Amino acid sequence: ISVSELVDASLNRINEVDGQVHAFLTVNEDEARAQAKKLDEKIGVDGGKGALFGLPAGIKDNIITRGVRTTCASKLLENFTPVHHATVMEKLDAAESVSVGKLNMDEFAMGSSNENSGFIAARNPWHLDYVPGGSSGGSAAAVAAGEVTFALGSDTGGSIREPAAYCGVVGMKPTYSRVSRFGLVAFASSLDQIGPLTRSVEDNAHVLQQIAGFDNRDSTSANMDVPNYVEALGGDVKGMKIAVPKEYLGEGVNEDVRAHVSNALRELEKLGATWEEVSLPHSQYAVAAYYLIASSEASANLARFDGVRYGVRHDARNDLIEMYKKTRSEGLGDEVKRRIMLGTFALSSGYYDAYYKKAQQVRTLIKEDFDNVLQQYDVIIGPTAPTTAFKIGENIDDPLTMYANDILTIPVNLAGVPAISVPCGFSHGLPVGLQIIGKPFDERTVYKVAHAYE
Ligand code: GLN
Repeated sequence: ISVSELVDASLNRINEVDGQVHAFLTVNEDEARAQAKKLDEKIGVDGGKGALFGLPAGIKDNIITRGVRTTCASKLLENFTPVHHATVMEKLDAAESVSVGKLNMDEFAMGSSNENSGFIAARNPWHLDYVPGGSSGGSAAAVAAGEVTFALGSDTGGSIREPAAYCGVVGMKPTYSRVSRFGLVAFASSLDQIGPLTRSVEDNAHVLQQIAGFDNRDSTSANMDVPNYVEALGGDVKGMKIAVPKEYLGEGVNEDVRAHVSNALRELEKLGATWEEVSLPHSQYAVAAYYLIASSEASANLARFDGVRYGVRHDARNDLIEMYKKTRSEGLGDEVKRRIMLGTFALSSGYYDAYYKKAQQVRTLIKEDFDNVLQQYDVIIGPTAPTTAFKIGENIDDPLTMYANDILTIPVNLAGVPAISVPCGFSHGLPVGLQIIGKPFDERTVYKVAHAYE
């Protein structure tokens, strides 16, 4: 099959289903076809050597793309076209995949259902009345609906893993600093990571192999060699020690979800692994600490969207302060404003010690919980989310219920460790996700276990 045929198939599928799924905010049909043609011409010249040669990809719309509109699903950036690429885009270009467009998300990656998109909510391809999860809902939906071979997402508190679970695909959040954040529009810089969403663990390892690695344009990037993830897939799990945190199977976790995770553990036992119950005692404070830290960082990061430097500017030309105010009040959605206010409050003098500093101390305790367990076990396993996908509109007026949904993914970001979500069955026709958490920079073991189970 030629690259043009492959890219045509992807574009046709998008035309066929995306009017219902709404995974895409921008489709670069002409550019994608032109690039496919160029790649086809390379076959026979240098053989098409790229590791992801010709594969149609979708990119979450908070990853900047040269010459292609990048909105973060915000009205404020409706007309923003970057002049350069994120590092991951340069790497994908070098690997010769073909970006077919930019994917829907919660505005500035704030949300768990995609309903905070400033444009239109993406839908779950398994059931269009249900959310695809968020914030990388477009990424998960596009892969699940067969619109692209792989997608890139970003994960600050679960935004790759939760939508992957809800849509029945594989989503990897690498170790913090493993993948360059240069060109990822910052939400909470100490938590954000880019990662791949795919249909299989093998595909996922191939994509991470290409996007991981040191980048001197990201001051937090890890200066470490990238091991061979693909090679790790062949290994078996005999003798591996799995930790199962009791907090991850407790109250609030749906019974079907629990049953599917127990089945998965039995499968892994059959393959020669053993598991034991452990405790991550500070997990109960993770959601509270996360919403203080993430909102604080967001309030600082989003100050740049003032109508002067990027995107839409309100037409209040005679008064600068008025222009800032109108641009931000009209351009930003309710959830984004809620976080900016919460973060500004938590960082203000007089409250800083009680909120932000306290939250950072809790974060250290959570990280120590993970360090302790991961010293004795190869991986930690539990569900990705307490339930399967919920109905569109079900939680929209209740931010606290929506926040609690991330209780099993957020601790992983606070600790900075890698974790994958892989499909582990269905409940009432909707997919359930299994979460496998690893030691820092040990994505290889995470992939090995995920592949053996899959
Ligand atoms: N749902 C979480 C939030 O709203 C996580 C988002 C994310 O990982 N980007 O902050």
